[in-house]
Amino acid sequence: MNHDPNCIFCKIVEGKIPSRKVYEDDEIFAFHDINPWAPVHFLVIPKEHITSIAHLEDRHAALMGRIMLLIPKLAAQEGCNPYPEGGFRIVSNTGAEGGQEVQHLHIHVMGGARPWKRG
Ligand code: 5GP
Ligand code: ZN
Repeated sequence: MNHDPNCIFCKIVEGKIPSRKVYEDDEIFAFHDINPWAPVHFLVIPKEHITSIAHLEDRHAALMGRIMLLIPKLAAQEGCNPYPEGGFRIVSNTGAEGGQEVQHLHIHVMGGARPWKRG
């Protein structure tokens, strides 16, 4: 699998940087954001180093489908309240103007009672 030795999220996948794990399988890793904006705030990433949503290829279709299907399950597991009163927000910052700081595709999942610190 493609890893970038200088990427902090690849290092998290490999356990070289510690994280609070939410979920792991052979293709996907999820962990709590170190600087949460909301009562629930975790990141879902492919284990493969894909730079951003803009870098996806046709071969990633099933992987991205699995990530989307996993998100509501993990959101509930991590304490997001049920739809429609609860729910959650997903965000994937892409590129400089998209506000992306870490260049490894990640989906923010945020939820829980308001107000939130941001967003
Ligand atoms: P971006 O702005 O790229 O969408 O968001 C990157 C996110 O990664 C930020 O919310 C930031 O708090 C989080 N983050 C950056 N470095 C680390 C880290 O080493 N560990 C964890 N758990 N989160 C990180
Ligand atoms: Zn990476």
